[in-house]
Amino acid sequence: MGRTVELVNVWKIYKTGSVETVALRGVDLVVDEGEFISIMGPSGSGKSTLLNIVGLLDRPSSGIVRLAGRDVSSMSSTEMAFYRNKFIGFVFQRFNLVNRLSVRENIELPLIARGMPKSERYKLVVEALKMVGGEESWLYKKPNQLSGGQQQRVAIARAIVTSPVLLLADEPTGNLDRSSARTVIETFVKLNRNGLTIMLVTHDPEVANCSEKIYLLRDGRIWNTVEPEKDRCILETVGG
Ligand code: ADP
Ligand code: MG
Repeated sequence: MGRTVELVNVWKIYKTGSVETVALRGVDLVVDEGEFISIMGPSGSGKSTLLNIVGLLDRPSSGIVRLAGRDVSSMSSTEMAFYRNKFIGFVFQRFNLVNRLSVRENIELPLIARGMPKSERYKLVVEALKMVGGEESWLYKKPNQLSGGQQQRVAIARAIVTSPVLLLADEPTGNLDRSSARTVIETFVKLNRNGLTIMLVTHDPEVANCSEKIYLLRDGRIWNTVEPEKDRCILETVGG
């Protein structure tokens, strides 16, 4: 088993004018290939910063970040975009779909970024949509014609259509009702069983309990690791 993610003493300091905010204070973290981990912590503890750095959307101020064994800490922006497209799928709390594009066009975006011809894209789009429990009748709808839970499934399809090695999800159930949240987590568990490595940020213990390991973040540091209580995973609890 390889290490999909490795962070060594990662710091992030945001500078806004003369104000400095230390968002990460020396984070060490290893996520092995095939693992499904979650990260919990209070608002402002650095969860999104951590995920954005792993997802090549942001750079650390210092420290080392390795993805699939490759040092990505000092890549150019062009290289970061290339490796993000190659390695990573990202799912956000607010779905981040493009509302003027159809569902099909949204899911195709990362394939177009790769320069894949149209004739090859359709099959992958349909496969990804099936994998997340979506329906072909959604393909020519606009995202805002779908429910929140359906939109998040489309966003997950867009994240996995490139067959990434790593799926990052920042509070993916934060805007969803319990039933939709359950569907999203069901999909994550299925993707993980198929070998996808997953890092999930969540406020919801019933979501974190579905993962294999929970890291607790506070003031930019990982201060504890806890074992999930599997019988308190949202897939096991009824009602809500
Ligand atoms: P979380 O996701 O756990 O709520 P964040 O990673 O978003 O935490 O934020 C960690 C800290 O960094 C907070 O104090 C936040 O205000 C600050 N921060 C986040 N992004 C920026 C930014 N782009 N510029 C300045 N400060 C930021
Ligand atoms: Mg956040």
